[in-house]
Amino acid sequence: MISAVKGMNDLFGKRAVRWGRMEEDIKLLVSNANFTEMRTPMVEEIALFKRGVGETTDVVQKEMYDFLDKKGRHIAMRPEGTASVVRAFIEHGIAMNEPMPFKVFYIGPFFRYERPQKGRYRQFHQLGIEILGDETAQMDAEMIFTAFRVLTHFKIDAEVHINSIGCKECRPAYREKLVEYFASKKEHLCEDCKTRINTNPLRLLDCKICDPKSKYKDIPVMTDHLCGACDDHFKQLQKSLAIFHVPYIIDPFIVRGLDYYTRTAFEVVANTGGSQNAVAGGGRYDNLVADIGGPDTPATGFAMGLERLFDLIPEDFYSESMLSAGYALCDEAVDDLVHFAKHMSHHPIRFFADYKPKKFKKALQKADKTGAAFMFIIGEDEVKEKKILMKNMKTGEQKVYGQHEVMIIVR
Ligand code: ATP
Ligand code: MG
Repeated sequence: MISAVKGMNDLFGKRAVRWGRMEEDIKLLVSNANFTEMRTPMVEEIALFKRGVGETTDVVQKEMYDFLDKKGRHIAMRPEGTASVVRAFIEHGIAMNEPMPFKVFYIGPFFRYERPQKGRYRQFHQLGIEILGDETAQMDAEMIFTAFRVLTHFKIDAEVHINSIGCKECRPAYREKLVEYFASKKEHLCEDCKTRINTNPLRLLDCKICDPKSKYKDIPVMTDHLCGACDDHFKQLQKSLAIFHVPYIIDPFIVRGLDYYTRTAFEVVANTGGSQNAVAGGGRYDNLVADIGGPDTPATGFAMGLERLFDLIPEDFYSESMLSAGYALCDEAVDDLVHFAKHMSHHPIRFFADYKPKKFKKALQKADKTGAAFMFIIGEDEVKEKKILMKNMKTGEQKVYGQHEVMIIVR
């Protein structure tokens, strides 16, 4: 038997219905804040992710799904969305052709070769927003508020952790401090972190393997080493978040896995106590557009894991819409049932017909099994009189109506 590729899921039935409604709600929420959708391909040249995500990140070093196409081009399944949005932004000259800031959202599948477990898959889905062409701390606050707004819409209790990771001016000196600090502690670090000291020392701060932040209490933090401009930006961010009524915690160990972030970094963590409880993360990436060859463009954005979001939505958040089922009891009734199905299609009622004639008892069993709230039956007598029998599955009550009358009843 052939089964699905490891770490990749099928979506169907009730879960698919809830998932679809979740996506609809999200699209409405972000559209109201004037984000428009951007769809980019599932694959890109691998060079884009190497430059856009960063050669030294786990995403690029370990988690990429890549392959050579028939012409030998090195292609990767997209592991995240920002690099593609920026590539498209540059390729279509959006900076010249559209009013700034340019606000986009995306929803779709992403691919990372990770060890599958709850909340961690090889094909997973993200909502992302990106705002290009605006450097203000207020816009960062709006961006974080948008993530928070999605969670509060779904009645999810979550914490917002913010940090500033500085800029090209102040980060290098801080980086040196970190390298110095950890130089004497090398033997207590995991293999990855021993390399990271030289390649990407900030990533030591959120390493889940050797977990230095729980072991050492005097690790230098970026917020103590910000330049004047970054410090002002961070203060303004906090002020604006307060105005947006977003409660936040300053967490100097939020560094994000990706190299292109500047200043604002944030993460939203669900208050479930479980692992894989980071629902969303993001921040400012003022250098990425220029790094990929575009015009100097400040930018900010986040990505939210939709599987993790979905699992946090309270069970009773969506009530199921009522289902009705139609059955024919004899061959002569089938055409009337077809006609009835056509009739029902004009109305906002979830209805399905079973065109294979069956005995009343069998129809009742089937309707019960599918969870129908109402059952419609057409038998010999009903055909003659152009009538239909409606049964309320909950109360057992049944009544005969004209075949065109039904809309009045089910409403
Ligand atoms: P984590 O620390 O959990 O690996 P990350 O820092 O790699 O997360 P990002 O690259 O910031 O995650 O992606 C944003 C969000 O996408 C995460 O907060 C998470 O909700 C979700 N996400 C990331 N990787 C996966 C995955 N393999 N499966 C499911 N969701 C994921
Ligand atoms: Mg990860």
